[in-house]
Amino acid sequence: MLMAKTSQFTAILTSKCPKCRRGDVFSGTLYGLNFQETNDRCAHCGMKFEVEPGFFYGAMYVSYAFVVGEMLNVGLFTYLITGNDTSPWLYISTIIGVILLLTPINYRYSRILLLHWLTPKIKYYPDYDTDDKPGNI
Ligand SMILES: [Zn+2]
Repeated sequence: MLMAKTSQFTAILTSKCPKCRRGDVFSGTLYGLNFQETNDRCAHCGMKFEVEPGFFYGAMYVSYAFVVGEMLNVGLFTYLITGNDTSPWLYISTIIGVILLLTPINYRYSRILLLHWLTPKIKYYPDYDTDDKPGNI
């Protein structure tokens, strides 16, 4: 029987394993106090998410790029909406507020993009993208 395979876009959006696109990368909820809890291994295919020691330090660079882009956009939109060109505190408070609200999203999607796009040695295995567990590899 032919099963529909999970698209990479869906796997990234739902924070799934890059190898099988089935298992969850994170165990906590997005806006819970445990949003940073990352599973050691994929529950479906057994892939170890931290592929080498300190692997997720690389996610800091991805997160940095996210935050710089968000800061520029929030600053620009704040200026376009308010037209304020005298008080820096409006920009500082707006930018810090939005960055704090987006922290869980930045944290999670920086790791997900690192796993899915920025690590060439992690490949998608369509054979693992099934309801049957392929077993630990
Ligand atoms: Zn997996």
